[in-house]
Amino acid sequence: MTSLADLPIRDNLRGLTPYGAPQKAVRIALNVNENTHPIPEAVAQSIIESLAVAILKVNRYPDREFTELRDSLARYLGHGLTRDNLWAANGSNEVLQQILQAFGGPRRSVLGFPPTYSMHSIIASGTGTQWIEGTRDAEYLISPETAVEWIERTTPDIVFFCSPNNPTGTPLSLETIAAAYDATDGIVVVDEAYAEFAPDDEPTALTLLEGRDRLIVSRTMSKAFAFAGARVGYLAAHPAITDAMRLVRLPYHLSALTQAAAVAALAHTREMLAMVDDIKAQRDRLLVELPKLGYTAHNSWANFVLFGGVANPSAVFEQLLEDDIIIRDLGIPNHLRVTAGTEAETTAFLEALARIAV
Ligand SMILES: *Cc1c(COP(=O)(O)O)cnc(C)c1O
Repeated sequence: MTSLADLPIRDNLRGLTPYGAPQKAVRIALNVNENTHPIPEAVAQSIIESLAVAILKVNRYPDREFTELRDSLARYLGHGLTRDNLWAANGSNEVLQQILQAFGGPRRSVLGFPPTYSMHSIIASGTGTQWIEGTRDAEYLISPETAVEWIERTTPDIVFFCSPNNPTGTPLSLETIAAAYDATDGIVVVDEAYAEFAPDDEPTALTLLEGRDRLIVSRTMSKAFAFAGARVGYLAAHPAITDAMRLVRLPYHLSALTQAAAVAALAHTREMLAMVDDIKAQRDRLLVELPKLGYTAHNSWANFVLFGGVANPSAVFEQLLEDDIIIRDLGIPNHLRVTAGTEAETTAFLEALARIAV
């Protein structure tokens, strides 16, 4: 029997394991930071109507430039952005892959700051880009000095930030992003997958784009927009960056159905984002309740909480699973991560955890 190890696979892929968040059929899934609220019925109807129109034309290739979607995304983001600043793909993971295809690759490197989103290093491997691991300060923060020091020491072609950071929830200051940008001639990427869950008055990295042509802010409809299954991610950057994406994307990479669904969803932004405040309230509840159970909860601006003080993470993970609840064990010693679900899901999680604690 041939196994992976017997194949003439690229050297830099030897021995690697694929992204593997467990997909289990459980009652309460709080493991991959999805929005656990279904999309509103009225919006679903509107999306179905758009899909019904689009399906009649699938004998033709879709708009390769997904112009209407870029217009919709620009309108949603604001900040003076236009379609020329926008690019989209099948999830922000594909956007990040396209960025590395264009700016990374063999003999090039990308600097990241673990613990961070596991896909960043996996996409680096997939594109043959060297992954360099920087370090964080206390409480998983990254000061401007720490970022600049790592950039000067390792001279990466690309710097990956994640703000707020997955899996820690940690916000990243705009000062750190600006200092990192000034310290490199390379590309600086800020993965803002969870931006909508940050405090309302906090500026995002979008405010830094003006005058910074090598800065890229990536976003997704997977989390706040409750659209994980539709696969729509996007970036905002200087128009020259989107021209670079056109060199590496596969032609017609966004299907007509994806474009139709996303445009329809964005026409209902207010309803689609109505649950974000509820989810933030459940996250804040986790931040208050977890310490009462004897755990340390790390400050989070996202829709999940990383908590420490777990003597045996895999045992707690398994016991929750017996209660039909799945959370995430990311291999950070004495830590687990839980997604903020609906009020009922969060209650069920906290009650199950309390039973384990005694
Ligand atoms: C969930 C997540 C994404 C989203 O990926 P999609 O491909 O858009 O579903 C991107 N970045 C981070 C940090 C995430 O946690």
